[in-house]
Amino acid sequence: MSEVAAKKEEKPRKFQAIRGTRDLLPPDTALWNRVEQTAHEVFGTFGFGEIRPPIFEPTELFARAVGGETDIVSKEMYTFEDRPLDIKQPEFLSQYSDYLQLVQSLYRKGEIPQTEENQKTIENFSEWHEKFAATEGKGSGITQVQFENFENALYRMVFWCERVHLGPQVSLRPEATASVCRAYIEHNMQQLPQPVKLYYMGPMFRRERPQKGRYRQFYQIGAEILGGPDAPAIDAELIEMLMTFFDKCGLQGTELSINSIGHAADNCRRGYVAKLREELLKVKDKLGADSQRRIETNPLRVLDSKLEHEQAIIATLPHIADHLCDECKTHYAAVKHELELRGVIYRENWRLVRGLDYYMRTTFEITAQGLGSQNAVCGGGRYDGLVELLGGPPTKGIGFAIGEDRLILSLQESGKGAAPQGRDVYIAWMGERAYATAIRAAKDLRNAGFRVELPPTELKFGKALERASKLGSRFALILGDNEVQSGEWTLKNLATSEQQKLTEQALLEYLHGL
Ligand code: AMP
Repeated sequence: MSEVAAKKEEKPRKFQAIRGTRDLLPPDTALWNRVEQTAHEVFGTFGFGEIRPPIFEPTELFARAVGGETDIVSKEMYTFEDRPLDIKQPEFLSQYSDYLQLVQSLYRKGEIPQTEENQKTIENFSEWHEKFAATEGKGSGITQVQFENFENALYRMVFWCERVHLGPQVSLRPEATASVCRAYIEHNMQQLPQPVKLYYMGPMFRRERPQKGRYRQFYQIGAEILGGPDAPAIDAELIEMLMTFFDKCGLQGTELSINSIGHAADNCRRGYVAKLREELLKVKDKLGADSQRRIETNPLRVLDSKLEHEQAIIATLPHIADHLCDECKTHYAAVKHELELRGVIYRENWRLVRGLDYYMRTTFEITAQGLGSQNAVCGGGRYDGLVELLGGPPTKGIGFAIGEDRLILSLQESGKGAAPQGRDVYIAWMGERAYATAIRAAKDLRNAGFRVELPPTELKFGKALERASKLGSRFALILGDNEVQSGEWTLKNLATSEQQKLTEQALLEYLHGL
């Protein structure tokens, strides 16, 4: 077979959405829109304004804000080098020397990232290039030792050459709180009346193991309150807004859990963590590998464990509520009181913790029904140290992030999904004159807000009515020569098969009156 013929036989590749990502399709997208519209409306009534930060940011921003040690930052981010320069890496040994010189001069001119890491990498590259050059070309009678030196120098040189970052590292956002805080600082929002109340919605990206309710591209709706005091009423009103939103969405079986994790001081959380570590060491042998490791790295995270056999052990551990300092204790009591004033029902969960230092005091989570093991639809908490950690002035902060995919899933499971959207009117036309009238009728009906289907080619009336039913249309507007001539159009109710004759004006009035 000729190459051309073989190419013709070859079936084109069928593409599929990447694992962990998915298409949102009608009619589901109508529900997504309804949920998002509800968020705009409810958050607006609480004085929040929308922020739309970019979808990618410097990797360093997330490393700082989310924490370099977290799974999100250490394993799950989609990171790439954003190379502004069109520089080709060497392909042949003879090109390494020129490449090294080029990289050195670009670094000096500040045209590639001026990071400590890059500087070190370029130094190493240069050092190994020298060693390589010194051992190169010793002729055919080289000894084993010389060969090994040469091979070693070559590998190292290539390794360091590839490690030079020609552009900044950027990541698809795994969450948006970091971006909101960055924007607060960048746009000097501390000059505005405080606190500043912002909300966002959009896709987030984490390379997690996909399962029901867990995706690699997923959507969050979140809100942050930055600046102003840390009055407990702020925490409570934010939670009240959240519960109002879920209520307006029709979410069933919501449960709000709250906790206070104090603040990072010896007489508060740090003291508790030390005590927790002490207790965990006593039962270390009975814990799984992850929890054993966390005793050293982050004992609070042991409380997150879902492992069956660890539950009884965790139940015996000390509670943070018994180790809060006086101010944090008072703050927590006041938050609960403020929630009660607002009629918000909560459950306390002493195991609801966050592993990062800047998280403090109030933490909360909301679960909903119909979601299996991934039943958290929202997580939130106070993070008074975050803006400062990102280079801004000391600023109070609290916020939440709702998992929109899970919210939608729960609404669908409880029968609140969107029904396929039918048409109000299907225009069954026959004949050229009727077609011109049909186009005009479609325009007028659509302007009046009705969903109209106008078939692009002529169909026999029987066929047209069949299509109208398949599309879930309420009415068929029948336009033939007779109707055009008389100016009396035929409207057929497809559910009852009743027909009536109406002028165009009467038709609009009739449809409006339904
Ligand atoms: P987090 O930003 O980790 O506190 O998550 C806040 C909320 O986002 C969670 O309660 C989930 O509802 C949702 N969420 C987090 N990760 C994913 C994911 N991979 N897929 C779907 N939803 C997620």
